[in-house]
Amino acid sequence: MSKTNATTGDARRDAVLDVSELTKIYPDGTLAVDGISFDVQAGDFCVIIGPSGCGKSTTLHSLVGTIEATDGTITLDGADITDAPTYERDIGLVFQDFQLFPHLSVAENAAYGLERIGAEDDEIEERVDDVLEMMNLADLADRQPTELSAGQKQRVALSRSLVLEPTLLLLDEPLGDMDYKLQKQMERELLRIHHELDITFVYVTHDQVQAMRLADQIVVMNDGQIEQSGSVDEVYNSPATAFVSTFVGDSN
Ligand code: ADP
Ligand code: MG
Repeated sequence: MSKTNATTGDARRDAVLDVSELTKIYPDGTLAVDGISFDVQAGDFCVIIGPSGCGKSTTLHSLVGTIEATDGTITLDGADITDAPTYERDIGLVFQDFQLFPHLSVAENAAYGLERIGAEDDEIEERVDDVLEMMNLADLADRQPTELSAGQKQRVALSRSLVLEPTLLLLDEPLGDMDYKLQKQMERELLRIHHELDITFVYVTHDQVQAMRLADQIVVMNDGQIEQSGSVDEVYNSPATAFVSTFVGDSN
């Protein structure tokens, strides 16, 4: 599944995220993620696709630690983080519904994570200014979330994660509710910040066409399992299973 075809050692060397046999069984007995293994190379834009209910969100929440995995190991930058608390994982998560603090301004939303880890005021101000500048939000710093458009809200949500400079940023259908024109504009924005920052992205969508536009690596999930992981070219031109062939070909 790795892009590198050299020795096993070389192929592994650049994997910033290594997920092995990850399993999640919910308390009601639902097997949501069924022993999946995949890795992501540093700096890649990895897109996980699959139909609704196949386990994409459960996978992301297990990575960030907001859901406790039932089994398996998660390694980030060489460290086993399987049992680490969320705040120690160096992973950001951006949701479809933004989850901004409604009573805080744009700048206060962006500053929140830095305040929680006890950063100095000067540092907070500088980093918030930088991230709002990068996200084209500087003019909106004092606005409340209710005064923002959907695209602006999602840029605030991204700012709130990016200000912490995570090694890995997870995005769970972040453009899901937006109209097509706004989606395309936000896709360009995401590709720009991914290019500008040294952050690895794992991006979840059920939209195959969007995945093709964004991904360096595509992971195709179905029913809690991985059907195929590879480059856009591999998944599109050499589907490993009948499911991949149908699902990826669906809207093309
Ligand atoms: P996706 O994000 O791909 O739509 P999810 O990870 O949300 O999929 O869900 C995977 C499976 O786990 C689905 O069958 C879903 O109904 C089930 N599920 C999700 N959350 C819970 C929960 N808290 N308790 C029990 N089952 C759940
Ligand atoms: Mg989901």
